[in-house]
Amino acid sequence: MNLYGTLDLTPAATLADIERAYLRLARRYHPGINPGDRLGAERFRQVQEAYAILGDPARRQEYDEGQHLHHDVVETTIAFDGFDFTAAAQGAEAATFSELFADVFQDATRRAMAHDQGGALELTMQVSFEEAMRGGAAPVSVVRRERCPACGGAGVVALESEACSACHGQGAIRWARGHMVFTKACEPCGGSGRLTRAGCRICAATGVQTRSELVTVHVPAGIESQARLVVPGRGHAGERGGPAGDLYVTIEVASHPVFHRDGLDLHVKVPVAIHEAALGARIDVPTLAGPVKARVPPGTAAGTRLRLRGHGVPSQLGPDAAGDLIVELQIVLPPVQDERSKALLREFARLNPVDVRAHLFDS
Ligand SMILES: [Zn+2]
Ligand SMILES: [Zn+2]
Repeated sequence: MNLYGTLDLTPAATLADIERAYLRLARRYHPGINPGDRLGAERFRQVQEAYAILGDPARRQEYDEGQHLHHDVVETTIAFDGFDFTAAAQGAEAATFSELFADVFQDATRRAMAHDQGGALELTMQVSFEEAMRGGAAPVSVVRRERCPACGGAGVVALESEACSACHGQGAIRWARGHMVFTKACEPCGGSGRLTRAGCRICAATGVQTRSELVTVHVPAGIESQARLVVPGRGHAGERGGPAGDLYVTIEVASHPVFHRDGLDLHVKVPVAIHEAALGARIDVPTLAGPVKARVPPGTAAGTRLRLRGHGVPSQLGPDAAGDLIVELQIVLPPVQDERSKALLREFARLNPVDVRAHLFDS
């Protein structure tokens, strides 16, 4: 096979064309990324052979003049023994996997660095019981790393243009391995050969600085204690202009002197006077929205529970999904101070001679 054809080139190709074609094809057919592909491995061997000659100006000239000896080339080019890829990779003049892919890895590294996402921020926020039930916007003070205003987060600032000393203004670093020449873009100047930027002094080239800031946290109504909220993008800013991480806020709900929460239901203990329990009454019951009237039926026993639908914890699913308020009635005796009340209670006892403790002694 014609060596130019092997590299998809014509005899008019320049050395740069040959290097480019070799890198492209060697990457495509490298056994390291095509394990078990016998045709690919054979193609890789041919590409290596072709480049060994065409990539060397003296040997290329020999080849062009029709003086090359193909079998010599095979022996001297690479120690490619059958399909033993290890041997191929270890051949004295064979390009290693990492060399072939050097600039690919370098690009990947640069991408990873450019997109250096900022760290997450964690904090705990105390809210009152009422705030947790009502929900709403709550400001919270956060110390976070933020984009440096001097360089806009880039970590670099513009500079008078000067030649790059790392690559002597060439924009690329070249090195040879055997007769193969590898090139990668110069990092300090980004391949331009000129330095037009310098690290930002304000943020030590990190692109971020630390400052305290008020962040608004939107607390959903009915939030439970220990719930964790996410505020996207309000964590630390990423370095070199990378995206900011997220802010995580763990909510701690304070307890309430009157209401006690159980899932979506609220519980409240409400005292009723002994005559209200005996005769029935309409009483005021506290709810989150203020007092509401509730009916105590006549002959109500201590510990009786009333359920006020929809007066519990608000639900994210709408008013119909809200919890209930469970009212536990506690019967209390109002202070008995005057003689008339005592006389009435004595009469009540005479009219109702019931032993309320009898069930304790039945057995
Ligand atoms: Zn800066
Ligand atoms: Zn440079």
